[in-house]
Amino acid sequence: MTLTPAEAWARLRDGNARFVQDAPEHPDQDADRRHELRTVQHPHTVIFGCSDSRVAAEIIFDQGLGDVFVVRTAGHVVDTTVLGSIEYGTEVLHTPLVVVLGHDSCGAVAATAHTLATGEQPPGFVRAVVDKVIPSVAELTSRQGVSGPIDPDVLRTAHVKHTVGLLRGYSAALAAAVDAGRLAVVGVVYDLDDGSARLVAVDGEVGEQPAAA
Ligand SMILES: [Zn+2]
Repeated sequence: MTLTPAEAWARLRDGNARFVQDAPEHPDQDADRRHELRTVQHPHTVIFGCSDSRVAAEIIFDQGLGDVFVVRTAGHVVDTTVLGSIEYGTEVLHTPLVVVLGHDSCGAVAATAHTLATGEQPPGFVRAVVDKVIPSVAELTSRQGVSGPIDPDVLRTAHVKHTVGLLRGYSAALAAAVDAGRLAVVGVVYDLDDGSARLVAVDGEVGEQPAAA
């Protein structure tokens, strides 16, 4: 059964509420579920989040096997294989929802703020991650008129919002699905301490508006 974007979001919202209350149900994690999924999968959501070990997608939303199709990179930075993986979720597996998942104390966001403040570049390919967060800073400073040292909390939310816009900008398939009403792309910020996942951006319709910044 295909869910609407709002129904998919409600599953994640309810699961996160259970996690926050320390009352997870650990659904869809038994042997029956495993057998049921042996040859098919019908996940209701693509979660595109940061690789951070503390932001484990299935755990923080109290989901199980076959429920969410997960793509993770440090700082949820986008490249072509990320876009291909997300499109696989929405176009082949027909998920009605994509969640961009950022969080506080994000190393990629902190490294970017450090590079901008000092001019020091991170080593090796870590630099490629920082390079892909910098456009979010540019959007903050140019469009929103933020100047001076960048507050990491402001930047992480801006980076989630920017990434939601980036998915529509890059992917004609995602934009068309949102415009047709069969998909929503939302931005969520996760709080490491209390475990809550807060809606900060919505492209499409999920029955809930983002909290005021
Ligand atoms: Zn992170």
